[in-house]
Amino acid sequence: MKKITIAIDGFSSTGKSTIAKELAAKLKYVYVDSGAMYRAVTLYAIQRNLISEDKFFKKELIKELKQIQLVFKFNSALGFAEIYLNGVNVETEIRNMKVSRLVSKVAEVPEIRKKLVEQQQKMGKYKGVVMDGRDIGTVVFPDAELKIFMTASAEKRAKRRFDEFMERGEQVTFEETLKNVEYRDYIDTTRKDSPLVKAKDAIEIDNSTLTKAEQFEKVYKLALEIIR
Ligand code: C5P
Repeated sequence: MKKITIAIDGFSSTGKSTIAKELAAKLKYVYVDSGAMYRAVTLYAIQRNLISEDKFFKKELIKELKQIQLVFKFNSALGFAEIYLNGVNVETEIRNMKVSRLVSKVAEVPEIRKKLVEQQQKMGKYKGVVMDGRDIGTVVFPDAELKIFMTASAEKRAKRRFDEFMERGEQVTFEETLKNVEYRDYIDTTRKDSPLVKAKDAIEIDNSTLTKAEQFEKVYKLALEIIR
């Protein structure tokens, strides 16, 4: 069977990664969470004191980009690859509220995007990849055979993210989570470099009205039609 590239883009917390992971497992493809890469760079900047709510030493972070090594390692118990920042597994830490609050500022920086996009393109060089993010179908893999664009209401997405925070025992309110989702939507769609937009040839899936199983079936069917 021929291998294709599958790009899944959309707003935050639309369930992109759940679908992408399942699809990759079913097709025996590699799954890449590009958001994890932007989050890991943000975590690095926080650890190095280069970013906080009221400051961002952008130039210093750009200078230190060469020192940032991001690697995905497959965890067979979990069934997907976890991200390592300079040799340390940061898969859980990058999901906290502090990183969520600052990541979109980091993701606006063209030099950072350039570095991560190059790495993402290398990972998808041999196809057989499902990658989720904001610019996968538009910038990273404009020739992807299947492009999905996922949407859902901000409230629905915030609820999903809030439940994840609660599961991990984070001290956040629903209002704070909703604000963060809306704030990231705003920055992600209005930034100059690679804003979040639906690629012309992407298929839109609004998951407000579909169950997880229905969404998966829809995307899986679309993938099989192209592969066969
Ligand atoms: O997908 P996730 O919500 O983890 O992504 C975190 C942030 O990383 C997004 O809000 C966005 O600012 C940035 N991002 C991006 N381009 C991607 C993936 C994520 O700008 N391809």
